[in-house]
Amino acid sequence: MARTCPSCGSRDIAKIVYGMPDPSVMEAAERGEVVIGGCCVTVDENGDWAMPDQRCRECGKDFARPRRGRPALT
Ligand SMILES: [Zn+2]
Repeated sequence: MARTCPSCGSRDIAKIVYGMPDPSVMEAAERGEVVIGGCCVTVDENGDWAMPDQRCRECGKDFARPRRGRPALT
């Protein structure tokens, strides 16, 4: 699915991964395909995910796709 940056419109988007990264995630992060977001996540008052999970590799903007539900940690 094509994603675009809401700031600059770039399609060069990396996924931000939360939780303990496994080795394959670490390798992807070294290639710049994903961003390690750490293991601390925030949910809003409804218990919905409140963290950005996409990062523009063009301008560095973090943003989130609309999503509901509690974060699924790896
Ligand atoms: Zn951007």
